[in-house]
Amino acid sequence: MQYNVIVIGAGAAGLMCAATAGQRGRRVLLLDHARKLAEKIRISGGGRCNFTNLHARFDCYLSANPHFCRSALAQYTPQDFIAMVERHGIGYHEKKLGQLFCDEGSERIIAMLDEECRLGAVERRMEVSIQQVSRTADGFTLETSAGAFRAASLVVASGGLSIPQIGATPFGYRLAEQFGLELTALTPALVPLTFHVEDAEAFAPLAGVSLEVEARAGKGHFRENVLFTHKGVSGPAILQVSSYWQPGMELELDLLPDADAAVWLEQKAGSEQLIANALAEFGWPKRFAEAWLAREGFNLRLKDLSPRQRQQLAERLHGWRVKPNGTQGYKKAEVTLGGVSTKSLSSKTMMANEVPGLFFIGEVVDVTGWLGGYNFQWAWSSGYVAGMNC
Ligand code: FAD
Repeated sequence: MQYNVIVIGAGAAGLMCAATAGQRGRRVLLLDHARKLAEKIRISGGGRCNFTNLHARFDCYLSANPHFCRSALAQYTPQDFIAMVERHGIGYHEKKLGQLFCDEGSERIIAMLDEECRLGAVERRMEVSIQQVSRTADGFTLETSAGAFRAASLVVASGGLSIPQIGATPFGYRLAEQFGLELTALTPALVPLTFHVEDAEAFAPLAGVSLEVEARAGKGHFRENVLFTHKGVSGPAILQVSSYWQPGMELELDLLPDADAAVWLEQKAGSEQLIANALAEFGWPKRFAEAWLAREGFNLRLKDLSPRQRQQLAERLHGWRVKPNGTQGYKKAEVTLGGVSTKSLSSKTMMANEVPGLFFIGEVVDVTGWLGGYNFQWAWSSGYVAGMNC
């Protein structure tokens, strides 16, 4: 069967692209191998879908070319998506830091995109496996479990590798390679970090403790909460810096980001109080204070600290270093860092420079957002741009 456009992947980017192209009057076929569409939207944001971020700007994204995402983000902004959400009467609220969530479930966003596809007369086929893609004189032919389909334009929106249990596959990367496009290195991102056995054992009793910190790894630094787990650390601060962390790198946490520990310790010098109890002043749970001070060798009274120890303790409180031994991998990662190289694509249209009619959008591309609605905004923006040009 002949279409103008075939979109592979009925996730965030694919639905946006299909609806946009369909509403332009293009005859669109949307294919997915999963039973249900947009499973990641369904589970996103704890079931409430953090669908965009009011502050989405190019510098909230990681990519070998940090400027690549500028054009798409300018062509389809968070305000454009909010306008669509409002048109569909979906209630939303800002949770924090510009992060917009649905008041009700994320199903509302899926239903909205489905309706937009219906308005564009998009034909959708689920549970279709794509066996072969080949290029013809006038476009592309797909051999699938539901027969052969042809189109002038092919849009790849098959996502990244995270959460394979709900349908993630390397399909898009393999297709890019088939057509000679470069890939950048792929790694799990927005992912909990794991500790070496000794550290994990030392902090295991703290599983569940959460603390506001300034976390740093490589060029990433974020002021958010860290959550201790049985295996290491998680929470928004860690998920954010995990995108900048590389094996062998230390993670540095400022455990008292609002205080000057040296001044505080100086003021308390001579006090009979245990340091662990005094740290309650900063909202530290006692069991965390005791375990951390024991590990660092400071389970003492304030008056027992020498001036040198006070200085050392202040330094550690503001720059506690721990070396993670890895991440919890794609099973727990929200996204995949890296992907189809932006060098191979036009930032204005998302079309492959050397393969006219072939587009890559969403997470399969080497553009990865911070935690907080940035990744969906990239899916909407890149999907819209391809939908306007395919
Ligand atoms: P996807 O949404 O993953 O869609 C890809 C589609 O392609 C899927 O439907 C899949 O079935 C299909 N597909 C894959 N392989 C094949 C194949 N071989 N053949 C046919 N079809 C195929 N981001 C935010 O901005 N806000 C959030 O609140 C948020 N929460 C998240 C929570 C979790 C637990 C996870 C895992 C991610 C979250 N993200 C969030 C990230 C966000 O979900 C992704 O960045 C976004 O879904 C990427 O959109 P996409 O369309 O590129 O890929």
